[in-house]
Amino acid sequence: MSAIAENLRLILDRIADATARANRPAGSVQLVAVSKTHPVEAVAEALAAGQLLFGENRVQEAATKFPELRPAHPALRLHIIGGLQTNKAEDAVKIADMIESLDRPKLAQALERAEQKLGLKREYLVQVNVGDEEQKSGIPRAEAADFVRAAREEHGLAVRGLMCIPPAEGDPRPHFAWLADLGAKLGLATLSMGMSGDFEAAIAEGATHVRVGTAIFGHRDYGVG
Ligand SMILES: *Cc1c(COP(=O)(O)O)cnc(C)c1O
Repeated sequence: MSAIAENLRLILDRIADATARANRPAGSVQLVAVSKTHPVEAVAEALAAGQLLFGENRVQEAATKFPELRPAHPALRLHIIGGLQTNKAEDAVKIADMIESLDRPKLAQALERAEQKLGLKREYLVQVNVGDEEQKSGIPRAEAADFVRAAREEHGLAVRGLMCIPPAEGDPRPHFAWLADLGAKLGLATLSMGMSGDFEAAIAEGATHVRVGTAIFGHRDYGVG
C-alpha cells in the first residue's frame, strides 16, 4: 500500500472514531483531501485508494491537475478552499464543484456573473473570519448572517453552509462552536472546519467537512522550482 493510501486509511479511522465519540451518525463527516502543492500523481494515488473529494487553494494550480482526472473519475469532487480573487471567479466556477471561500460582496457579484455567463450553478460556503483577525480572509463575524442572506437572495448563489480557519494560536474549539451555532441559526447544514492539527476537535463541535492536507500528502514544499 502506498504511503498516501496508508495515511488516508489512518485519517478515515480517526474521523470515524471522533464521529462516534461525539455521538454522531457514522458517515456524517466528509474528508476533503487537500492536495495543494502536491503533483497530480499524488491525487491519482488518493483516487486509487478511493478518495473522491479534494480541496485546492489556488484555481490556477487546480486547473493544471483536476480537469484531466475527471473523465476517468466522474464522481470526483473539487472544492476551492483558498482566498479567491474576483478575476479568478470565472475559472473557479468552471473547474470547481464547490467554493468554500465566499467571503465578500464583490466576490459574490463576480460569481453570480460567472455562473450566468457559463450557464453553470455551483455550491458555496461562506468563509467567516471567526477570530476577526486583521490579515485573514473571511467575512467578519458581525456581518456573516447578512452576507449569507445577500449571497442567496440578491446573487442567487447556492450557499450550503459555513467555513472557517480559526486563529493559529489558542484553543480552536470556541471558534468551531461559534460557527456551528451560527450555522444552526441560519439553517445551514454544512460546516467545513478542522485541518490536520485540529480536525477531531472540529468533529466534536459539529464539522460536516474536515480539510486535511499534510496528514495525508506530507509536508508542503513552497520552494522555488
Ligand atoms: C492548506 C489548507 C488546509 C489543510 O491544512 P493541513 O494543515 O495541511 O491539513 C485546510 N484548509 C485550508 C483553507 C488550507 O489552505
